[in-house]
Amino acid sequence: RTTVALVGKPNVGKSTLFNRLTGKNTAITQDVPGVTRDRIYGVCQWMDKTFALIDTGGLMPTTDDPMLSFMQLQTRVAIEEADVIVCLFDGQSELSTTDYEVVELLRQAGKPTYFAANKIDDPKHEQNLANFYQLGIPDILPISAEHKRGLDDLLDVICQHVEATEPESEQETAAVRIAVVGRPNVGKSSFVNYLLGENRMLVTEIAGTTRDAIDSDLYLNGTHYVFIDTSGIRRKSKITDPIERYSVVRAFKSLDRCHIAFVLLDAEEGVTDQDARIAGYAYENGRAIILVVNKWDLIGKDSKTAGEYVHRIRDKLKYLEYAPIIFTSALTGQRVFKTLNLADNLYAQYNRRIATSELNMALQEMLAKHQPPVYKGHQVKLYYITQTAVRPPTFVAFCNYPEGIHFSYKRYLMNQLRESFAFEGTPLQLRIQQK
Ligand code: GDP
Repeated sequence: RTTVALVGKPNVGKSTLFNRLTGKNTAITQDVPGVTRDRIYGVCQWMDKTFALIDTGGLMPTTDDPMLSFMQLQTRVAIEEADVIVCLFDGQSELSTTDYEVVELLRQAGKPTYFAANKIDDPKHEQNLANFYQLGIPDILPISAEHKRGLDDLLDVICQHVEATEPESEQETAAVRIAVVGRPNVGKSSFVNYLLGENRMLVTEIAGTTRDAIDSDLYLNGTHYVFIDTSGIRRKSKITDPIERYSVVRAFKSLDRCHIAFVLLDAEEGVTDQDARIAGYAYENGRAIILVVNKWDLIGKDSKTAGEYVHRIRDKLKYLEYAPIIFTSALTGQRVFKTLNLADNLYAQYNRRIATSELNMALQEMLAKHQPPVYKGHQVKLYYITQTAVRPPTFVAFCNYPEGIHFSYKRYLMNQLRESFAFEGTPLQLRIQQK
């Protein structure tokens, strides 16, 4: 999938543009308050094209970074991680030396780059645009993220670089696609190398080259597993790369292509904000998730330790209450191969289909146990339910007043579906549609 990065100084309107292009409020997001507060990676659809969008500004700590290094770092991350770059300016303010430097960095990188001036809310603001040509750029698009002006033109130019979306190929569905994600040093390399059995293959990577995604295959007991984008993981760089700190972008990209996410947590550190962000993204995109607590060998344990860990993780990641948790040591190999057994079961659940007749029998029972609410004086009725997709199992229920089905009732239905059909570990999706 094509990745597009937004760069620009603070306050030029990057997050507003980001939210406009990715459509902040997807149905699933509303169910998880707080998960996507600081969203920096999203999917954008335009005509028959789909691409991933990164707000590089949101990646950086805004605190005491001097402006110059902040912009340079942001731009370098964009150059490293993206196929297309959109450089955003404030169309109502003066140019600064930083602007010249960013443009120069982008020119040297030679990636497709588009320049846009934001806050052009009104045609009369367009006279400011002349200024920007002093930067030596070929063109500048006037837009207003706030007032949705010029966005079509921007999307059109971006989409010249995007292939039309193709459905998942048969080869892709035949294998279990696993993304091993987590913060630097949590043990991803050790874990993947243990599974793939070539732990002596650690070589130093040459910094500065664009890292292409390379997947690794594992055939075991008749199952084909694909570990997504193991290039950076397997050939671990010993060089302390500042961009490595923002490797969360890489995690997001892998999550876009996987069926199952192994979210690695550090047993000594517990769930950090960055872990929650990665897990939240996987959740929002309907990925099956296994929470892998690694470095378990470092923990002094008694009979209660694992239980306490589970409790703490569940508390931090409430919306992932269904996701299995496993404790591993990539150093000793403890339970590392067990994660694949979990993945097999989870994948089976992730692909399950329930017959419509069975679903509707179950629906009748759910309704009998707990009737939908009354909405604006009308009894809300659910007529019929059907499964429309797998990976993850996705259901659509038809209703006279969909607005009348609140989060709590929807959650009741989801829990009932999970229970009635013994769905284990997999996410489920339920949409309520107007009949
Ligand atoms: P990555 O950045 O997530 O790929 O992490 P690495 O696999 O490079 O691991 C970072 C450090 O943690 C290395 O020194 C590993 O040897 C160590 N490590 C990884 N997994 C474990 C584990 O399960 N137990 C212990 N004690 N150390 C581990």
